[in-house]
Amino acid sequence: MSELPLKSEVDTAVYKTLLESTKAIPWKIDWSTMRFAYIGPQIERLLGWAPESWMTVQDWADRMHPEDRQWVVDFCVAQSKAGVDHEADYRALTKDGSYVWLRDVVHVVRDASGQVEALVGFMFDISERKKTEEKLMSLQRELQDLSFKDSLTGLANRRRFDALVEAEWEAARKNKRPLSLIMFDIDFFKQYNDHYGHIQGDECLKRVAQSLCSGATRPRDFMARYGGEEFALVLPETDHLGAKYVATRCRDALTQENIPHETSLVAPTVTVSIGVGTIVPAARDAPVQFIEEVDKRLYQAKQMGRNSLVVGRQ
Ligand code: GH3
Ligand code: MG
Ligand code: MG
Repeated sequence: MSELPLKSEVDTAVYKTLLESTKAIPWKIDWSTMRFAYIGPQIERLLGWAPESWMTVQDWADRMHPEDRQWVVDFCVAQSKAGVDHEADYRALTKDGSYVWLRDVVHVVRDASGQVEALVGFMFDISERKKTEEKLMSLQRELQDLSFKDSLTGLANRRRFDALVEAEWEAARKNKRPLSLIMFDIDFFKQYNDHYGHIQGDECLKRVAQSLCSGATRPRDFMARYGGEEFALVLPETDHLGAKYVATRCRDALTQENIPHETSLVAPTVTVSIGVGTIVPAARDAPVQFIEEVDKRLYQAKQMGRNSLVVGRQ
């Protein structure tokens, strides 16, 4: 007659079955030896490393992404020493060389005298959650970019223009350096739309934006769509001669583009009127006045018959 198992043996078997049938992977580390006393067999399915291969804390650290290793190990050791339960997210190395995002939730077990005796915990596979998180983050970045971009031309929009002008203005004022602004407005664009239609009007705007941009070459130069058919080019560290040179180059690039405009009264192709200004901002100056000043010159260029350029020196 076989003996009945003891109740404690039954309990242990039940616990073991329960632990090993969950998705969370249980483990235990003896604090005095820093060795694994136990790790759930599920670990092999998740990472490919057999349970027997998890021997020491070093094995755990070695199977971590190099970028995560230092802070995770330092953090977990410090928390454990202080006897504080904790958790950490990190990328665990799989046997085939890829990584899986894990969340390790750690409970510190103390003996009767309060000394740390062991660490027990669960590892959770959080790769799906991380994927969603990363997707959300990249969507957020994309949205942020979009909110600063003009959707038609891909140029900075008016909002970004305002922010960047403010920043460049401050830099120019502090360093007592010249800041230039060029404003472009397409001539007889209403007639263009009326004649060719709005869709072709949009195409034309894109081409004008592109060719005007090719006139500015320094990395800090930036072109924005200021309004419907108006563009603004900000040139940091550029004096009035430089600005005039760039404006001419932009205009030449547009001429080269050679976009037909049958109903323009000044040329057979699309042209722009241009206002240019330069300033070394003083404390009493404000960007808005400077922009208005340049806009006035653009208006003068229109008055002069369009397809022309008015440069001023402030
Ligand atoms: P001017 O030579 O005095 O600048 O004359 P204009 O016709 O260019 O100027 P006006 O301000 O009278 O008209 C601007 C036109 O630009 C009106 C509008 O139909 C067109 N426009 C503005 N934004 C867009 C756009 O996003 N797409 C298209 N297709 N047209 C636009
Ligand atoms: Mg206009
Ligand atoms: Mg116009």
